[in-house]
Amino acid sequence: MSYNLDSLRVSNLVLENSWNLNLLYEVFGNNLNFDYLINDKISSNNENCWVWYPKSRKHKLTSMVYAHFNKDASTLNPWDGWANIWRLKIGPRPKHFLWLLLHNGIKTYDYLYRLNLGPQTFCKFCNLDVETSEHLFNTCTKVQLIWNSVSSALGKQVNFQGGFSSGNWLSPALSEYTKYDQSVFAVVAWLIWKARCILVFQNEITDMLAIPIRAINHVREFSQTSSSHHGKQLILNNFTFTDNPFLFVSSAGSIENGVFGAGFYLTDTNSQLICAGSCSNCADSVLEADALALSSALGSLFASDLQTCTIFIANAELYYIIKDGAS
Ligand SMILES: [Zn+2]
Repeated sequence: MSYNLDSLRVSNLVLENSWNLNLLYEVFGNNLNFDYLINDKISSNNENCWVWYPKSRKHKLTSMVYAHFNKDASTLNPWDGWANIWRLKIGPRPKHFLWLLLHNGIKTYDYLYRLNLGPQTFCKFCNLDVETSEHLFNTCTKVQLIWNSVSSALGKQVNFQGGFSSGNWLSPALSEYTKYDQSVFAVVAWLIWKARCILVFQNEITDMLAIPIRAINHVREFSQTSSSHHGKQLILNNFTFTDNPFLFVSSAGSIENGVFGAGFYLTDTNSQLICAGSCSNCADSVLEADALALSSALGSLFASDLQTCTIFIANAELYYIIKDGAS
């Protein structure tokens, strides 16, 4: 035995930027998936240390690791793209998705295969190649059509030097793309993944060519609207087709002169506008103005023979009054 188990550190298991496979085998025997380790990226620049021990009572592994990383910023991974993820003008779900993707953690067929959790399976979109992250988000012929239309929409050629999952396109030092472009790329990848999961688990085909415009709408919404804008919730809450059409109603004005402008719009699940309108109302309070806005909107839908399934209103008080009144 060429190591001392009591003083063994993770850094002892690393040899010139890659895992010391012989020592790993000595320590773990056949209990490790060596195929997975060979393909994984490691950072040997930082001092590695144990963060969690089996005896760490009352603490979860994730909370210990989180506390450790927040305690000393110098131990953070130095790649400049990480911080950039959180600056993108996109919703929390695609941010988290991107973070996972760049940590090589998206559960593609190839990922599961390398963990001995499933057979090697071809890409469900094209059925021509193994479903790796790089194939699914970049080189797949079906996905290339999406990137071509993203190129046209952004007015610049999109290609990912070093591959999509290298994250070079997100690195401030390497990337030629703006934050807006990067945000669109992130949402496109997230929507590709969602389309893939819908195909795999529900056997339903998503309109892939609508992905670029959906991504651009998403980024525009997060770039141009305030955090209180309720359209954002439509994306965040991941409504399904059965919840549409969606009615958004809001009003704005001043209590001093008692005049409020009211607006509404009705959309379907693909953010396609069905109907929109506005009017002005006289009211003594914001609550009354919002109630009148909702009433005007519903009146307009009724007059146009339109229906809604899910209503978004900005006023919590009004919501509770309607809810309590209905029950
Ligand atoms: Zn494919």
